[in-house]
Amino acid sequence: MSGSERDPAAFGILASDPAYNAVLAARIDDTETLARVWIKPTSVPAPFEPGQYVTIGVKVGEKWLQRPYSIASSARDLAGGYELYLRLVRGGAFTPLAFSLPVGHALRVLPPKGRFTLQPDDERVHLFISSGTGIAPFVSMARTLLADGRPRRAIYLNGVSYVSDIGYAELLHGWSASGEYPATYVPTISRPNDPANAGWTGRTGRVESIIRAALGDLSVDPNGAVAYLCGNPDMIVAAEQELRAYGLPDEAIHKELYWPAGKQPTGAIES
Ligand SMILES: Cc1cc2nc3c(=O)[nH]c(=O)nc-3n(C[C@H](O)[C@H](O)[C@H](O)COP(=O)(O)OP(=O)(O)OC[C@H]3O[C@@H](n4cnc5c(N)ncnc54)[C@H](O)[C@@H]3O)c2cc1C
Repeated sequence: MSGSERDPAAFGILASDPAYNAVLAARIDDTETLARVWIKPTSVPAPFEPGQYVTIGVKVGEKWLQRPYSIASSARDLAGGYELYLRLVRGGAFTPLAFSLPVGHALRVLPPKGRFTLQPDDERVHLFISSGTGIAPFVSMARTLLADGRPRRAIYLNGVSYVSDIGYAELLHGWSASGEYPATYVPTISRPNDPANAGWTGRTGRVESIIRAALGDLSVDPNGAVAYLCGNPDMIVAAEQELRAYGLPDEAIHKELYWPAGKQPTGAIES
């Protein structure tokens, strides 16, 4: 990123506004285009259900630019703020601005919302299927279940383009290795021939293309499983078909689309 891409003033972002009610408390840039950020409200953070999202925004002139993001942190740990997992969409209207914000910058956060939440007391195997940053709500779900002392067996299938984009690998592989959380993490790389992915020995192909094989290998009973799908809408349509073909009933498939199918980045300032 160039210097101006890291300067919120270069985007016209106001440093202060009476409606700002949170700060960017921390950020970790995992790659040039993937960051984990912690948004801390200046008053007591509103509680949330794992799977919900918050809308964060900044003011540019008279206009608000804002977008919803799934919360990745545990719903039982509000003290550190809301952890979010963001992808920089080049040409996007909001994410270039969000990525320009330094730690300590003020912004606005709207209260948590959303119905993409866990069913109570569901003892089925949980299939957490995502593309890219769509893994975020599933991290929150497992962290919260772990904090409650009621972990549910989970299989994470996550599709990304590059090995370096595999999100939350340390956490999820760590859970599998230690047995702390009964999770199996199966990332898949959609561009195995790209030199950046040289040496990758795991699954390849888009996430929907590995569903039936991965679930078969793990002996998943379709009548004892519930699936949550999150991320790219095209992936969700295709993954739903694969799950049905594997034998999951419709009521066992839950979805969160990150944008409407067929939509491209706008690059436009919006109110
Ligand atoms: C409920 C909900 C939760 C969401 N949670 C997250 C999240 O946790 N992390 C996250 O990164 N995004 C998430 N999104 C998407 C996010 O709200 C924005 O759409 C995204 O950050 C792009 O904003 P933008 O203004 O830069 O792009 P826009 O100018 O609005 O362009 C949008 C276009 O960018 C592309 N795009 C959008 N999101 C992504 C993405 N994540 N990866 C690749 N391409 C994308 C698509 O082509 C989409 O049509 C969520 C969306 C919804 C509806």
